[in-house]
Amino acid sequence: MTAQIIDGNALSKQLRADVATRAQALRAKGITPGLAVVLVGDNPASQVYVRNKVKACEDNGLFSVLEKYDASLSEADLLARVKALNKDPAIHGILVQLPLPGHMDAQKVIEAISPSKDVDGFHIASAGALMTGMPGFWPCTPYGCMKMLESIGYDLRGKHAVVIGRSNIVGKPMALMLLQKNATVTICHSATPDLKAMTLQADVIVAAVGKRNVLTADMVKPGAVVLDVGMNRNDEGKLCGDVDFEGVTAVASHITPVPGGVGPMTITMLLVNTLEAAERATK
Ligand code: NAP
Repeated sequence: MTAQIIDGNALSKQLRADVATRAQALRAKGITPGLAVVLVGDNPASQVYVRNKVKACEDNGLFSVLEKYDASLSEADLLARVKALNKDPAIHGILVQLPLPGHMDAQKVIEAISPSKDVDGFHIASAGALMTGMPGFWPCTPYGCMKMLESIGYDLRGKHAVVIGRSNIVGKPMALMLLQKNATVTICHSATPDLKAMTLQADVIVAAVGKRNVLTADMVKPGAVVLDVGMNRNDEGKLCGDVDFEGVTAVASHITPVPGGVGPMTITMLLVNTLEAAERATK
């Protein structure tokens, strides 16, 4: 078997076109969906991420502001800035780029964002909404994974999904989303004694670890669907995921590549969440 590639760039293009259409409809009513991106410090990776997010907004009819602050900004000043953005009617979504400098409590900053503008889906109210099946913003990366499964018409009911990783931004929300679609879900992590025994039972595997070759061909049931969230560098310095792509492609039915898989979907779902925030604000 040679796995079919789930192309995150192609799917993003479709979903972003829909965002642009809906943004245009809002603009016709005098409302431009607006995202505020707040960056503190000069982390090079964060600078690339925020640039890509701002550009994606501009390309799809959303308004965005990038607020850059020196790493020495006090937590109190950042909290005050977030509170001002909560009150700004031109801003429908607020994203504080993580990581924050060490002297700041990231969770405290996230909790200062109004849940109605929490387009990253990291606020405890958003996490609670996902857990209880109430309306709220879903974290963009696992939300993008769900869209990728939807794009291949995959019915999760009765399937066994194994999520590797249990972070608050990927692994745990991923497991809850899969559960909500009636999969039987297993969450694995660094203290899981026999990862292979778990993954071999899986119809769907989501790898969200941050280590190369966490998932190899011998760990995958023939025909399984494999989503690779990981972002790592190989020996040549090139971007790669958690999955041994070449090996697993020979066993899986579908697989997401790195780059060009989950990565672009994350930004796409940020646009979708921001648009939804603007639509909700007008209701
Ligand atoms: P994280 O907070 O570091 O979590 C990693 C998880 O992997 C932890 O739960 C950890 O277990 C688990 N783990 C570590 N070693 C393991 C092993 N050998 N076997 C099984 N589980 C193991 O990372 P994250 O923020 O969730 O991100 C995960 C990866 O996804 C990273 O590469 C990150 O760069 C990438 N990512 C990509 C996107 C995107 O847009 N494509 C977005 C977000 C993240 P413990 O909990 O026991 O420590």
